[in-house]
Amino acid sequence: MGTIFTQIVEGEIPARIVYEDETTVAFLDANPLAPGHTLVIPKDEYERLNDVPDDVATELYATIHRLVPAVEEAVDADASTVAFNNGEEAGQEVPHVHCHIVPRFEGDGGGPIHGIAGEAPDLADDELDDIADEIESRS
Ligand code: AMP
Repeated sequence: MGTIFTQIVEGEIPARIVYEDETTVAFLDANPLAPGHTLVIPKDEYERLNDVPDDVATELYATIHRLVPAVEEAVDADASTVAFNNGEEAGQEVPHVHCHIVPRFEGDGGGPIHGIAGEAPDLADDELDDIADEIESRS
């Protein structure tokens, strides 16, 4: 049996689908953080962003790009937070890549994405240089 999102793709469980094409689908989150909270997924099951093949990633981004203004306009939002929980330790509960589009409203009491981390590390310049080099060498 696939993930709960695969079951949505297969039509085995209901969802409020708001967009669908050959590769991707978008539907309302069942436990919305705001009116219009929408999830965008690839139809095929990939656990993490880095598991998604290039061509599917391109399609996934195209759907996100299309849905962000649609969602914002539909609920008259001022802005949106667009994010992936990428891995269990980052809060990912459903092991099927999904992008959250959470409409945001002036004075909604929510915070920026900077609020997700614990205490910010105090990194020295040489540590930052080393980290930048490590990332660059893998890019
Ligand atoms: P995450 O913690 O990033 O894995 O988020 C999983 C999201 O999926 C949560 O926001 C849930 O509310 C949502 N969710 C779980 N089951 C369903 C479902 N059957 N239909 C729509 N959204 C769901």
